[in-house]
Amino acid sequence: MTIDRSEQNAAVIGHPIAHSRSPMIHNYWRKLHGVGGLYRRADVPPAEIARYLAQFGETGLVGANVTVPHKEAAYAASVDLDAAARAIGAVNTLVYTEGGLHGRNTDAHGFIANLDDRLPGWDAAIRPLMLLGAGGAARAVLHGLLTRGFDRIYVVNRTLDRAEALRRDFGAAIAPLRWDDLGGRLGDCGLLVNSTSLGMTGKPPLDIDLAPAGADLLVNDLVYAPLETPLLAAARRRGLRAADGLGMLLHQAAPAFAAWHGVMPAVTPELRAMVEADLYPVKA
Ligand code: NAP
Repeated sequence: MTIDRSEQNAAVIGHPIAHSRSPMIHNYWRKLHGVGGLYRRADVPPAEIARYLAQFGETGLVGANVTVPHKEAAYAASVDLDAAARAIGAVNTLVYTEGGLHGRNTDAHGFIANLDDRLPGWDAAIRPLMLLGAGGAARAVLHGLLTRGFDRIYVVNRTLDRAEALRRDFGAAIAPLRWDDLGGRLGDCGLLVNSTSLGMTGKPPLDIDLAPAGADLLVNDLVYAPLETPLLAAARRRGLRAADGLGMLLHQAAPAFAAWHGVMPAVTPELRAMVEADLYPVKA
């Protein structure tokens, strides 16, 4: 069977996937850059993912983004991995060639690019950082921060074992910390990042006391639904500079587009406004 790949179709693979804004982002850039074909959603249940990836060539897609819960399956199905995917242990972008699936991870890029964009100069003074959470997103954040040269990162997590596992995987720059000890270290820190799911719509709020923070603490929440999380609202009340998580979502998409279509698209205010309006429609 000969497959016509001139249309450069791509997809986002997940389960569930109906909520994904990736088609909106990628199809916006496709139109802008004159790329033919379509970017669509592929809802693949866990029981079917191994077979789907093994037969990926038959889909006719040039590649795919991969989201929850399939990032580890995509890692396992890749014939090779870029440095980020290897360090993070998960693949969020697949590039298909005759040789098979090539696994990449663009989440660390998305995290760093969002800070560069929204909090310019955030990495100017190297000081300890504090990361809340030790799940999949935390691994991408740590890879990004270590790549930028940070050598002291407190990782605070409800389950301390998971923070200790990150120290084993990412090295001595990681300092695991109990939730109760957060207040004693926050004053030393230049950046606080939330990578827990606390604060998300439907989850309990992230309730931490920012009183020990210095006046120059920067705050970033990876949660982007809602856009203004309780953490970001508390930071702004104290006059701290803060960045939401939507930019990470937008910036992680750009290198995937570049890998498939050969042009690095821009994350523009227009794109952000379009996705924001779709995520948070103004209620009449
Ligand atoms: P995950 O692997 O399931 O990890 C969840 C983390 O939240 C763990 O550290 C977990 O602690 C902690 N947590 C959950 N409930 C808690 C509670 N009640 N009290 C204290 N800690 C709690 O999830 P993930 O993939 O890392 O995603 C985490 C968040 O980041 C989600 O909100 C996701 O939407 C967001 N995210 C955003 C982007 C973006 O582009 N902006 C990208 C990726 C993820 P334990 O280890 O103790 O369970």
